[in-house]
Amino acid sequence: MELDKNPISAWLQEDDTDRLETLWHAADRVRRENVGDAVHLRGLIEFSNHCQRNCFYCGLRSANKKIRRYRMDLDEIVHCACQAKDLGYGTVVLQSGEDPGCSDHWVASLVRTIKEQTGLAVTLSLGERGRDAFLLWRDAGADRYLMRFETSNAGLYARLHPGAPGLEERFRQLLWLRELGYEVGSGVLVGLPGSTHMDLANDILMFAELDLDMIGIGPWIKHESTPLGRGELQDNTDHKRVAASETMTYKMMALARLACPRSNIPSTTALATINAENGCEHGLRRGANVLMPNMTPAVHRADYEIYPAKACFLESSEQRFRIENIGRYVGTGRGDSPNRDARI
Ligand code: SAM
Ligand code: SF4
Repeated sequence: MELDKNPISAWLQEDDTDRLETLWHAADRVRRENVGDAVHLRGLIEFSNHCQRNCFYCGLRSANKKIRRYRMDLDEIVHCACQAKDLGYGTVVLQSGEDPGCSDHWVASLVRTIKEQTGLAVTLSLGERGRDAFLLWRDAGADRYLMRFETSNAGLYARLHPGAPGLEERFRQLLWLRELGYEVGSGVLVGLPGSTHMDLANDILMFAELDLDMIGIGPWIKHESTPLGRGELQDNTDHKRVAASETMTYKMMALARLACPRSNIPSTTALATINAENGCEHGLRRGANVLMPNMTPAVHRADYEIYPAKACFLESSEQRFRIENIGRYVGTGRGDSPNRDARI
């Protein structure tokens, strides 16, 4: 399938359900041919909800005084990682806000301890740091890093991230991660106020240009305690605005699969939040090959409120049944990205 900006934008504006079926089938075929039928499970540990940033969409933003902040200690996090290993997962994902309370050296010792005690692949998702921190964590054994660029529209990015370095800096940091030998993941939010079909088409082209090993795509979900949730970002592109809809998210996932055939693509929690009944399965049938069951201790889970009513994939036999019920199977081992393997 030809993937230039105009055809991508046309697919994003396609409403005909029969024609969309051809997109879903193409993405599913390309997924099967390139990453197979395994669904890799990654144990997600949301270890701190402290954040120094003020992203306009996120409930963890520092200006939100309504959430109870927590930071797990090293033993508690390692305990969760051991549980992930006992459940047979090959990877843990350590995620947090941009928390200066977690020093570079503390994160390095956390990574080293998890590697020693579990041997699991470790993915970090801690936001922007410096090249030195990325190097320290890589030397400690970190395997992968996830950092979405959220939108490829630099002007919109700047409006959504006041006081933060711009989009160029985010791309620079993604490049450092690549140079240091991480598997690199990024992604976007679908339906951000002010974003257009052309912006989303550029996002897809950017995935290919960055040659991403992992791509996370989720709908923007309104959070009342954020500027976007309060409708504070209105501008004259709003009439062209893309819906933060389930179908638009599937279109983006399917097109990402076509643009980056060997990437690992999760069916995201945000998708399961807007369609609890079968968002997860639809995602897996429209390009995705990864799920991220939540390993965050129940006592903290509700406080990691990036958006309201956040769904949680929890480990369960029902979850495994749902995977098998669509003709797929739970992957074993680390589930590394074939994209990175092909590059090195
Ligand atoms: N702080 C790190 C960062 O920003 O990269 C990692 C944690 S952050 C909560 C992870 C992702 O949550 C962000 O990349 C963003 O795309 C997503 N997110 C934040 N607010 C959201 C919202 N209101 N709806 C959907 N996704 C959201
Ligand atoms: Fe902080 Fe990440 Fe949320 Fe931005 S998206 S406010 S950096 S947790």
